Amino acid sequence: MNTKEYVEKVYNEVLKRNSGEDEFHQAVKEVLHSLIPVFEKHPEYVENGILERIVEPERQFIFRIPWVDDNGQVRVNRGFRVQFNNAIGPYKGGLRFHPTVNLSIIKFLGFEQILKNSLTGLPIGGGKGGSDFDPKDKSDREIMRFCQNFMTELYKYIGQDMDVPAGDIGVGGREIGYLFGQYKKLKSSYEAGVLTGKGLNYGGSLVRTEATGYGLVYFVDEMLKGKGISLQGKKVVVSGSGNVAIYAIEKLQELGAKVVACSDSNGYIYDENGINLDTVKRIKEVERKRIKEYVKYHKEAKYYEGCRSIWTIPCDIALPCATQNEINDEDAKGLIKNGVIAVGEGANMPSTLGAVDAFLKNGVLFAPAKAANAGGVAVSALEMSQNSIRYSWSFEEVDEKLKNIMKNIYDNSVKCAKEYGYEDNYVIGANIAGFLKVADAMMMQGIV
Ligand code: NDP
Repeated sequence: MNTKEYVEKVYNEVLKRNSGEDEFHQAVKEVLHSLIPVFEKHPEYVENGILERIVEPERQFIFRIPWVDDNGQVRVNRGFRVQFNNAIGPYKGGLRFHPTVNLSIIKFLGFEQILKNSLTGLPIGGGKGGSDFDPKDKSDREIMRFCQNFMTELYKYIGQDMDVPAGDIGVGGREIGYLFGQYKKLKSSYEAGVLTGKGLNYGGSLVRTEATGYGLVYFVDEMLKGKGISLQGKKVVVSGSGNVAIYAIEKLQELGAKVVACSDSNGYIYDENGINLDTVKRIKEVERKRIKEYVKYHKEAKYYEGCRSIWTIPCDIALPCATQNEINDEDAKGLIKNGVIAVGEGANMPSTLGAVDAFLKNGVLFAPAKAANAGGVAVSALEMSQNSIRYSWSFEEVDEKLKNIMKNIYDNSVKCAKEYGYEDNYVIGANIAGFLKVADAMMMQGIV
């Protein structure tokens, strides 16, 4: 059997064993195919079953979360935690609260997390979790009760040297606070490193809130600089208006780019003068309202219902920062036709396989999520370091470390892409760079 046939065999096994898990299949397919040149060069990985082992989570939990709403009604949601791979450190990955959450979504995110965490160069394994709970329109007390009940089950499976969750869609500083409070109560001990994304006054790290968005822009900036292009004056479209989108916009504006659009799941706003970020922050971070409120404060801006057509806006750079598969093959064609020069994935797997292919074939500089949005988990790992030494670094110190980490990820992706004959393909470069470290650690630790 040649290497291609071997990889196909493993992929078919994944399809059979995880039937109906489309997002997980998509993530595995993208990674496995890009690793073919690695297996050709390193038959020892095949002999040691690295591929078969890396696509199978080490452990997965699915649990019931009963809670009581403000009207006294009993509600039931489903919770997940998938511990995918701990070859290079404790499982690490966020929690997502969104009605679309299911095992497939958590597994795709956990699988991606293995390679992403490896790329950061820090000692963290891959995991992910969440619930199909919808935080929208819930009162603060309902959110608190839900988080407490979620943790009442989750605490059995996590620990600062075992598995360290953080935030993701629908889980921000408020939720992490409630989750941490309940963990502390259940354990009767203060283990700050069990969760990251904590408040600054109880063990959080400066720059964690900004890290994914800032890191994304640092990566895109490196990628452009590699081609002698500057961010200055570039027209940018950013989807989403959550944590990643907001801080990507902040850094883009600081570096002289002009962001003309952003969105939420209902629709998007277009402001040709450039988005006013203070207004977006107030609407989203303080008032927790819909993005359409923006046009009340900025008469020149327009609101469009439905978020997909945001990609029809002509731009130099597109940064999808909302959710998976938000750029499909057609959206990609439209962006290319309108002259996009770079795409940076802030969200996890926001582009379909066809879209990625179209970008690469048409010479668009493409920064894949695994590499480009690794800044969040990198600063989470720095938060764990600070918790371990019981000390806090300044904003400038953490930001400098983040910048260096993003530059290293870019350099390693470029190096691996070139070494394996795929120059300028950061998708393949990042997959290989992330994989090699994990695979070598798995080899050294035996078949476990
Ligand atoms: P938030 O919950 O803060 O924001 C998510 C944004 O995306 C909101 O504007 C939301 O709109 C929009 N959105 C969510 N689901 C959909 C959907 N189905 N269709 C259209 N829009 C949608 O999440 P984050 O900013 O933290 O996460 C965004 C992405 O970045 C996710 O893919 C996440 O996995 C990834 N990521 C996040 C990291 C982090 O540190 N936070 C780290 C690495 C990756 P609405 O409010 O209407 O739901």
